[in-house]
Amino acid sequence: MISAVLYFIAGFLLGHLMPRVPFILISRNAGFNKGFPPHPEPIPLSPRLTQRVLHMRWFHRLGTMTTALPLLFGYLSILGGQSTFGYGLFLAGGWTLLSRGQALLGGPTLPCTLEMAQRLQMVMNIADSEDACCSHPQPQWWMESVRCGSCSKKLEDMPQPDLGRPRKDGFFLGGLRLWISDGHSMVLPDEPQN
Ligand SMILES: [Zn+2]
Repeated sequence: MISAVLYFIAGFLLGHLMPRVPFILISRNAGFNKGFPPHPEPIPLSPRLTQRVLHMRWFHRLGTMTTALPLLFGYLSILGGQSTFGYGLFLAGGWTLLSRGQALLGGPTLPCTLEMAQRLQMVMNIADSEDACCSHPQPQWWMESVRCGSCSKKLEDMPQPDLGRPRKDGFFLGGLRLWISDGHSMVLPDEPQN
């Protein structure tokens, strides 16, 4: 009985982790992160950063597609007689698919969205225009919002999601944190300031 429960938990954890492997692992290598300051320092806004948001969005989508793996392996395990392990895999895969599907019904979206990339672009456009916050605008994306590096004015109330940089809390702890947060920002937006 206990081994059955353990098999189920192992299957569930594995099935939950699989769809998250693309964004936890692929984006973490050093070459992919050249040109970005180390986590958790603020990142200057640039077309490269906007591109990164879109890359991360793609990794998350790839993860959603990878959900087919726990579903398939779960099904095969159930057929093959290792049914508790299979149920765990199957349930975790289905769970992930359902939670991703919520976005279609107006629920929480993926951590990195097209809208986010567009908002970054808007901030850059304004910084280049006459409406800029100060004479030498340096928009930077901090953990809790986009602020100007010169005059500290908040330019966009948008917490930074995980952007694939290696984390300062290390590979395992950082990876665990990513697994739990799913790449969403773990800071709450600032209180409104005047
Ligand atoms: Zn400024």
